[in-house]
Amino acid sequence: MSRTTYRCTCGALLEYNQNLVSDRGATSRTWKCKECATPVPGMIAEKIGHQHPS
Ligand SMILES: [Zn+2]
Repeated sequence: MSRTTYRCTCGALLEYNQNLVSDRGATSRTWKCKECATPVPGMIAEKIGHQHPS
């Protein structure tokens, strides 16, 4: 199973759900970089959100 990572504009490598903060909006949940609060594309964030360091 391939692992999804996302390089944020702030330079942070988002790899696990702990690297994201979820923001529950009115209609849907959005995800943001924990470091700079830049929104992360939903499809990518959903994958990262299921990845845990082990
Ligand atoms: Zn960031």
